[in-house]
Amino acid sequence: MTDLKYRRVLLKLSGEAFAGDGNSVIDIPIVRGIARQIKTLTQTGVQVAIVVGAGNIWRGATVARHGIDRVTADYAGMLATVINALALQDSLEKEGVTTRTQSAITVQQVAEPFIYRRAIRHMEKSRVVIFAGGTGNPYMTTDTAAALRAIEIEAQVLLMAKNRVDGVYSADPLKHKDAVKFDRLSHIEALSKRLAVMDSTALSLCLENKLPIIVFDMTTPGNLERAVAGEAVGTLISS
Ligand code: UDP
Repeated sequence: MTDLKYRRVLLKLSGEAFAGDGNSVIDIPIVRGIARQIKTLTQTGVQVAIVVGAGNIWRGATVARHGIDRVTADYAGMLATVINALALQDSLEKEGVTTRTQSAITVQQVAEPFIYRRAIRHMEKSRVVIFAGGTGNPYMTTDTAAALRAIEIEAQVLLMAKNRVDGVYSADPLKHKDAVKFDRLSHIEALSKRLAVMDSTALSLCLENKLPIIVFDMTTPGNLERAVAGEAVGTLISS
């Protein structure tokens, strides 16, 4: 086992990470690539849990604007995260990584229920745990689920994987050429400046529980490992 800055991490993968260039809902070769990166990380001895989003399939708030009841739309969004979780689980297992999927909503044929002590036990046995179903509650996001699960399983860092940006900027760098990247920020700064890190519920949970967050570009090979090794990758948000 190499020297690890973090012994247990929670990786948040948004739905768009599964879509690749956007032509497929789930781009299987892309998911396989993500699985290989996670495999490399597990080989360092770090314990890994993952929360998956579902923006590639379904976003409750957006669908609700087209005339579906918001609560129903959000439950559908939670179900959509199960689809991404299964795709990731399959890719990880094909790479030889033992996984367990736990869901916050009951889908017992394909996933265990979320039980935090069991999740910790899986990680202690070097299994990667995938958390599906978000928080299990409507009007919430999978970013909030990621913060919550990270705190529950006592992860030492929340790794927010991004596909289009390599950290937190003063403005959207894809729209504003003069946007400035932050190497470090405090939780309070990120909250008060309303920077696009994650939603404020998720960020408040991290602030209150002093959970460091690393926002980084996962499409650059090796970045995931570098972030976990404590190298300066992306933006570090800490107290
Ligand atoms: N969702 C929810 N409660 C949760 C997590 C997710 O209702 O705790 C629903 C919500 O409709 C959301 C969708 O699931 O739009 C997909 O999650 P999210 O938008 O967070 O996915 P991401 O942006 O990470 O791909």
